[in-house]
Amino acid sequence: MNDFVNDEQLASWLSDLRLPGVRDRLPSLLDEAARKRLSLRDFVVLLCRHELTSKRHARVLRRLQQARFPMVRELDDFDCKAQPSVDPDKLRDLGTARWVAHGDNLLLLGPPGVGKTHLAIALGRAAIHEDYSVRYVTASTLMTTLMRAHDTDQWDVCLRGFAKPHLLVIDEFGYLPVPASAAHLLFQVVAERYESGSVLLTSNQSIGDWGQVLGDEVVATAILDRLLHHSQVIAIRGESYRLREKRRAGLVAPRSPTEAQERGKAW
Ligand code: ADP
Ligand code: MG
Repeated sequence: MNDFVNDEQLASWLSDLRLPGVRDRLPSLLDEAARKRLSLRDFVVLLCRHELTSKRHARVLRRLQQARFPMVRELDDFDCKAQPSVDPDKLRDLGTARWVAHGDNLLLLGPPGVGKTHLAIALGRAAIHEDYSVRYVTASTLMTTLMRAHDTDQWDVCLRGFAKPHLLVIDEFGYLPVPASAAHLLFQVVAERYESGSVLLTSNQSIGDWGQVLGDEVVATAILDRLLHHSQVIAIRGESYRLREKRRAGLVAPRSPTEAQERGKAW
């Protein structure tokens, strides 16, 4: 057997071994080893470390795409001073994704424009950077998808798609009523995830009104029972961020006392 392996052959072996990180940077890794006079063992450590980092980076990029976020929002861009009902320490803690590691749920409740979607996306992205898989879906898309797949041979695949990610983000629950006949489909998603994966749900409706949204008090109670077990609830109050900015620019009239009262109500 000829011992000589040319660069092309070596690159092909590294591909076969699923080590694309090392394959793509082999010359500079060899240079680094020579420059630092690494022992053979330390060189193997360098290769392993490089491949692990590169795989993790690729995984994060892939998961950011798979999550299907409608836009980019980051925790650092959330202005906590403009939103005093959100505790910055709490937000920092949620950003570590420890709650996802524990399979806890998170409910973000509040009126329109207070940053629920912003936080849902930002926390989802933070979870991906902590090596978790995430799926974002609006409640209306979720319900349409479930209703279409129900009673077809796609049901199991569909249910698994929403059950599998470490974190399922359901945004805008309560904006559109759920057909009563479909409430049990949402229950199946929540039940499937119960104690195995986290749900982050945002809603403009207070928990007491979920029976109405779902058109079925019994199913609403069953869903809430599972969601609220091991959960954190953040009620965001206050003015719409968009309106606030416009008001500041003098484009919208100042708030009336009734509007202020409505936005300050308990969720
Ligand atoms: P909601 O989902 O509660 O209706 P959004 O998250 O869609 O509200 O917020 C509306 C817009 O205002 C978004 O562009 C969001 O990024 C921005 N926004 C809301 N609250 C804040 C905040 N506290 N700091 C920075 N941007 C915010
Ligand atoms: Mg929203």
